[in-house]
Amino acid sequence: MGAFVRARFCALAFSIWALVVTLSAASIFRAMQEPEPIVAGAGVTAQRMLSATEPSLAGGPGDTPVFELAGAPGGTMLILGGTHPQEIGGVMAAILTVENARVKRGRLIVVPQANRSGFTHTDPMEAYLHRFEIATPAGPRWFRVGMRLTNPAHQWPDPDVFVHSPSLERMVGHETRNLNRNHPGLASGWLTARVSYALTTLAKEASLVLDLHEAQPEYPVINTMVAHENAFETAATAAATLQARRIPIGLSASPKNLHGLSHREFGDHAKAQAILTESANPAMGRFRGRTGAELVIEGRDPNYVRAAGLKRLFVGFDERGWPLRLRVARNLASIKEIIDAYNDLNPQSPIEVENIPDYNEVNTRGLGAFLQPPPRS
Ligand SMILES: [Zn+2]
Repeated sequence: MGAFVRARFCALAFSIWALVVTLSAASIFRAMQEPEPIVAGAGVTAQRMLSATEPSLAGGPGDTPVFELAGAPGGTMLILGGTHPQEIGGVMAAILTVENARVKRGRLIVVPQANRSGFTHTDPMEAYLHRFEIATPAGPRWFRVGMRLTNPAHQWPDPDVFVHSPSLERMVGHETRNLNRNHPGLASGWLTARVSYALTTLAKEASLVLDLHEAQPEYPVINTMVAHENAFETAATAAATLQARRIPIGLSASPKNLHGLSHREFGDHAKAQAILTESANPAMGRFRGRTGAELVIEGRDPNYVRAAGLKRLFVGFDERGWPLRLRVARNLASIKEIIDAYNDLNPQSPIEVENIPDYNEVNTRGLGAFLQPPPRS
């Protein structure tokens, strides 16, 4: 009888434990559906959702805010953050642009969360941080981290083989949820293809496109710009200026036979000068330790210091790490220098932008000094 009672008690305890785990997972899942506020700065002249460009996205998980900052007639630049949502150095640079920049001539179109579905989940078994906070003088702002691919709850199942359109290049099936393998997209395709199609439509309005990414320190294409051949002169000029400012950044040519990538397809299909940047994010890497705020915001990890000592990395890495503020500062400096180089080479359609947060100031004062106050709920 005692054994029977013990078994019943164990079964009850297990059921309660399973219920707690399920409720806790459900609450985390639901919390990740809530979008963080992005506050339009004084320079924002229009704000809409991406579904204004591709109506099939309306009200769905791929719909995402589009900010426009316009001045006198000139050229148009499209800036994308969050093509891969865990690459937060790109997301935050796009957000700081929306919240601070003012355009005198030309137009900026900024999409800080290009694959918004990807902000609603993280990969199982990786113990990623779901959100982080940045202190501002008026109180904390919060942001999600997200994951590289579209949430499988929004696009499922993956095919065994993903056949890219229109190149017919064959890729592994889960790349069908990778926004940066779907370009130029399909109007009647799956969710990620339709988001890509809408972004390609925006890129067709632009003469210059910048897609902001990050990569793990052990990845060879890092602290680098990848440029379509039609943007190579602009990117090379910008990279040289950044080098002269002691912000070292490499330059790589977009391969002509790798399809679906923004720096290839926005150049080929939208005829825009297309550039992609990669900054160094240790929270994405395989050598990382505990993925808490210390790593995600401060970019410090003793494993990476050891890996650098063993010469396993493609960037320097010491106890100072690669903090988010430094990566965002680098991305903002890249935006500024790419615009300046573009203007020098394309004086007929200038894009004059003021008040992009300065590299040294972002690096020393931190992101919170350049974020708008949190909106009152
Ligand atoms: Zn990326």
